[in-house]
Amino acid sequence: MKAIKIKKVVIEPLNLDLGEPFRISIGTKYSIENALVTVVLDNGIEGYGEAAPLEPINGENQATALATLNSCVDFIKGKDIAEYRAIAATLRGVFQPQVTARCAIEMALIDAYAKVLGIPLYQFFGGAGNKAETDYTIDIVPPDIAKKNAAKLAKEGYTVLKTKVGKKLTDDIDRLLAIKDGAPECGITIDANQGYSPCDAVHFIEEMTKNGIRPILFEQPVSKYDLAGMRFVKDHTSIPIAADESVFTSADAINVVRTGCADYINIKLMKSGIIEAMDIAAIARSANIRLMIGCMLESKLALGCAVHLVAGMGCFSHVDLDPHSEPEKEPFAGGPGYKAPFYTLSPDLPGIGCTRK
Ligand SMILES: [Mg+2]
Repeated sequence: MKAIKIKKVVIEPLNLDLGEPFRISIGTKYSIENALVTVVLDNGIEGYGEAAPLEPINGENQATALATLNSCVDFIKGKDIAEYRAIAATLRGVFQPQVTARCAIEMALIDAYAKVLGIPLYQFFGGAGNKAETDYTIDIVPPDIAKKNAAKLAKEGYTVLKTKVGKKLTDDIDRLLAIKDGAPECGITIDANQGYSPCDAVHFIEEMTKNGIRPILFEQPVSKYDLAGMRFVKDHTSIPIAADESVFTSADAINVVRTGCADYINIKLMKSGIIEAMDIAAIARSANIRLMIGCMLESKLALGCAVHLVAGMGCFSHVDLDPHSEPEKEPFAGGPGYKAPFYTLSPDLPGIGCTRK
């Protein structure tokens, strides 16, 4: 194939109001403040990529992501799009900690390259399928609201509901019981976001058991650095334990394998970038560790990219990619079709399938 050069790279903020405020352990977010990369090839094809920084998780914010991206423009311009892996490898060497910015560039390059090949991204990632079923997260809300939301979500078709724990044990148990009451047929996953000590996590599991609650998954019970503590939790329960914040890189995934501290690894594009996400998946699969995928606060562009990865690789046992924004507020048209709880990808839309409105 004749070289197709990258003619232009445009960096801009990607701001989006959230339909509902999003409550996480570090506070409440009312809007998405991300960064958008557009690469334009010399044949006119455009590729889009998104950075979704969140300081407490990946140490980046919108300003640092934009600054990193702007400093990469001259390096990327003029390169052959088929060299996307070499470009990504060089940027990883220089900007290793700026992972969301690097992810945005990888996404834009891969989106453009798949469009050159004329195939949707899920086929580029292996073509295992074109569908993915996601769970839905219930915020930290009072039990009566949790129950109402759970019943509504079950009615919409969701089969797995997720909630955050790790703040106050009695509140967490009450909310879990309310979710179970509202949607008895749904599986429940919980995420402590590093909130417990190893002993507290085991105590929490014992209290859940007393109350007849058995989650299908328990994410990141303890500090991301405490793999021995996570192993202690895993050794004291048959509930599968998932490593999320503990795994940003393939080296982190190897450490999870070596210590035997988790049953699942949670991949997020904004922790590892796209290319390293595939390496992490390969390590996990080789070690018989199951895979889940999650996301940050992302528009349908980055979410869509993750859906393509899930569908195309076909190796994810659990998908946590519930959309955050309302479609009419998105700056993109197209992308994955979504009818709760399923994403469906069209074979006729090349790349991620998103176009600018
Ligand atoms: Mg998590």
